[in-house]
Amino acid sequence: MTLKLYNTLARKKEVFKPIKDGEVGLYSCGPTVYNYAHIGNLRTYVFNDVLRRTLKYNGYNLKHVMNITDVGHLTSDADSGEDKMLKGAKREKKTVYELAEFYTKAFMVDLEKLNIETPEIIPKATDHIKEMIEIIRKIEKNGYAYSAGGNIYFDTSKFKDYGRLARLENDDSEKKSRVDADKNKRNPNDFVLWFTKSKFDEQEMKWDSPFGKGYPGWHIECSAMSSKYLGEQFDIHTGGIDHIQVHHTNEIAQSEAAFNKHPWVKYWLHGEFLVIDKDKMAKSGDNFLKLQTLVDKGFDPIVYRYFCLTAHYKQQLKFSFDGLESSRNSFNALKNKVIEIKKDDDGEIHKRLDHRYTEEFKELINDDLNMPKVLALMYHVLKDEKISNKDKYSILLDFDRVLGLGFKNMKEEIAEVNGEIEALIKERDNAKKQKDFAKADKIRNELKHKGIVLEDSKDGTKWKKI
Ligand code: AMP
Ligand code: ZN
Repeated sequence: MTLKLYNTLARKKEVFKPIKDGEVGLYSCGPTVYNYAHIGNLRTYVFNDVLRRTLKYNGYNLKHVMNITDVGHLTSDADSGEDKMLKGAKREKKTVYELAEFYTKAFMVDLEKLNIETPEIIPKATDHIKEMIEIIRKIEKNGYAYSAGGNIYFDTSKFKDYGRLARLENDDSEKKSRVDADKNKRNPNDFVLWFTKSKFDEQEMKWDSPFGKGYPGWHIECSAMSSKYLGEQFDIHTGGIDHIQVHHTNEIAQSEAAFNKHPWVKYWLHGEFLVIDKDKMAKSGDNFLKLQTLVDKGFDPIVYRYFCLTAHYKQQLKFSFDGLESSRNSFNALKNKVIEIKKDDDGEIHKRLDHRYTEEFKELINDDLNMPKVLALMYHVLKDEKISNKDKYSILLDFDRVLGLGFKNMKEEIAEVNGEIEALIKERDNAKKQKDFAKADKIRNELKHKGIVLEDSKDGTKWKKI
C-alpha cells in the first residue's frame, strides 16, 4: 500500500518514496528552550509523533532527529529582536545553559506525558557549533556569503531558487516586512549565518570562529544537525506552518548552497496552528497554556493528545476548555469500553489480525495521516456486533500503534487514589459530619468539574473518572 503525504514543496499530496529503500531519515525542528512548551507547540509534536508511528507501521526503519534550540533564535524568526535565550535567562536570573537544561527537561516530561515516542537523536545546537562553522565555510567557498558590519550573511540574490518552498516570488509582503531590519543586508531576504557584531554585547554564548568570535544565526543549526545525523540529503523535514516563510526557506537555501544537492529534502510537512479565539498561541502571548495548566484543571494529558487527534494536522484547531472537556468525555467513554472488551482478551492477537478493518485503517493513516477518520473507524469497530470483543481488542491495539492512546495499559482507576482527590474527599466527609452540606456539595461539584464522580457507599466514598 502506498503512503501519501502532503508535501508543502509541491502543494499537493504525493506518494512517499524514500531515498533508500525501507529507510527513512526524518528531521523535526525542535523547541527553543527559553520557556515551557505551550500546548500549541505540543500539537506540532503530536503531529510529528503520528507521522513517525505511521512510518514505523509501514515497516520503515526510521531515524528521527529532533533538535533542541539553545542559541541564536531571536524574537523575530528573521534577524531582528532580542535573543530568546538571553531574554529568558534575564527573566529567571539563570545562565542560558541552566535555562536550557531546565526547559529541555520540562519539554521531555511533556512528551512522555503525551505518549510521544522519543526521537532516535536529540541534538543540542550548542554542541554543534563546529559543524555549523564548517557549513558556513562551505557556503562562503561556493560564493553565497558576504561579510558586512562584522556579520556573515547569506546572499539570497545568488541563490536562484530562494523562496521556492514559501512561493515568495508571489508574495512581496514578506520581503517588505524584512526590509530595514538590518542596514548591512544587501537584499531584504538575506539572513545572518554568523554574528560577531550585534546589539547583544552581553551575549553569554560566544565561540571562536574563522569569522571572528561570535555566535550562529538561528537557521544554520538545523542544516548542521540534520546533515550530521541524516546525511546531506534526506527524506522528510517537519515543523509548524510558521516555519515555511523564513526558517525552512533559509534552511533550504543554505543547505543547497553548501551541499549542492537538489532538492536537499524531498518532503516538507507542516502542521497547522492551535489557536485560541482566532489568535495563534504563542510563547510570548497572553494565551499561553502549558500542559501542566491542563493537568491543574483536572485533565489527563492523554486527553489533550486525543483532542489533537480529532483534527487533521493540516487544519487549524481551535482550543477551548469546552472542547477539551468534550474530548475528555469521549476519551473516558472509550476507555471504559476498552477496559470492558479487554476482559475477554486471551493474548492471541496476531492470529486474529487479518481483518478488513486493519486494511481500512492503513488506508486512512496512509492518506496523509487522516486521524479524525481513524477515530471514526475505531468507533465503528467498537459498535460492530459481528465481531467478538477479543477481535475488537486486537484491532484496537493495532490501531494504537499509531494513535498512541495507551489502550494496552488502560485500567480502572477506582482504587488508584490521587492525593488531591483523596484530600477533597476527606474534606467533604468532614463537612458532611458537621452537617455543612453546602460545602459537601460544593466539593462534589468541584470534583465533577475535574471529571471525577463520587460514589458513596457504606464502605466509604469511591471515585471514578466520567
Ligand atoms: P518554538 O519552540 O517556538 O521554536 O516552536 C516549536 C514548534 O512549535 C515549531 O515547530 C513551531 O512551528 C510550532 N508552533 C509554534 N506555535 C504553534 C501553535 N500555536 N500551534 C501549533 N504549533 C506551533
Ligand atoms: Zn529548524
